[in-house]
Amino acid sequence: MELLSNIECLKNEPLSKHTTYRIGGAVDFMFFPKTNAEVKIIGEFIQKNELPYFVLGNGSNLLAPTEALNGVIINTKKWNIEILEEKHFLKIGAGVLNAKILRYCGEHGLSGLEYLSGVPGTFGGAIYMNAGTRAEWVSEVLESIEIISLKGLERTVEKKDFSFSYRHQSILFADELVSSGFVRLKKVDKDNLKKNLVDMIQKRKRAQPIEMPSCGSVFRNPEGENSWRLIDECGLRGKIIGAAQISPKHSNFIVNLGGATKEDVLSLIQLAKESVKDRFGIDLVEEVKILEMRFLQ
Ligand SMILES: Cc1cc2nc3c(=O)[nH]c(=O)nc-3n(C[C@H](O)[C@H](O)[C@H](O)COP(=O)(O)OP(=O)(O)OC[C@H]3O[C@@H](n4cnc5c(N)ncnc54)[C@H](O)[C@@H]3O)c2cc1C
Repeated sequence: MELLSNIECLKNEPLSKHTTYRIGGAVDFMFFPKTNAEVKIIGEFIQKNELPYFVLGNGSNLLAPTEALNGVIINTKKWNIEILEEKHFLKIGAGVLNAKILRYCGEHGLSGLEYLSGVPGTFGGAIYMNAGTRAEWVSEVLESIEIISLKGLERTVEKKDFSFSYRHQSILFADELVSSGFVRLKKVDKDNLKKNLVDMIQKRKRAQPIEMPSCGSVFRNPEGENSWRLIDECGLRGKIIGAAQISPKHSNFIVNLGGATKEDVLSLIQLAKESVKDRFGIDLVEEVKILEMRFLQ
């Protein structure tokens, strides 16, 4: 029988160790489920004790509270970490890191997910966020998604029932986790593909402050515009509040200079939004997610 005490768990674990912003206070329980049965047991624990919870991937698109948090973080990085070839498709588990997927694609000459090159995160996080560029995103190659709720209910959503848009999906209910996705990729020349993947990383290194803690682009790009340009033209490039800075290298990145708080980052977000609205009349919309614990209904 599966027991809660058998599930890997860290108590009083700082979230700053699990977010690319390196921001986040300690949480009471961080569970690392390895199986669907363990996800269900964690769900029972949350429900029985009426604890708030949050589902965490690689923490690459999250702004977490600086102070300590009550409740449970379900960390998916050790859950479903397999890539399987099934019925001409790849089945990719939610916990698989994008870097591992792209290594697999490079070795097998499989094209269709190149835009995830240099995007830190898990595949579950990529599906949840519909990650990619403004022109290409992960839902385009997805054929179906397997989902499990914290009550242990499993369902599969097929392509015809998808509802994805730019950095958005409205498929998952609040108590559901992406468990895996089936993708249809194209066979291509391995060497060309590997070269493209390396070129994409080099391009990112030149344009983005990837050496600094951040969440990537803070704002979505408005239709026909670039958020970085709008922020730049407001004279905010390099602006510092507390220990957070609008990156001098890329104005749609806010970086943690060391010891930044959630409030420092939020103040810069607010400043950028107000400045862009005043100058261009455009409402910037956040791509970064604010980590807010929720209760199981
Ligand atoms: C340097 C840098 C560059 C970046 N470049 C890009 C880019 O080019 N394109 C882009 O799209 N993004 C980019 N990002 C943002 C980020 O990498 C993506 O949004 C990524 O897909 C987030 O995945 P994650 O596993 O880290 O999710 P997290 O940040 O942990 O979570 C994000 C959201 O997904 C939910 N979630 C995660 N896993 C699951 C799951 N299994 N089931 C249900 N919900 C889940 C979380 O609850 C949360 O709401 C960048 C980030 C950085 C730091």
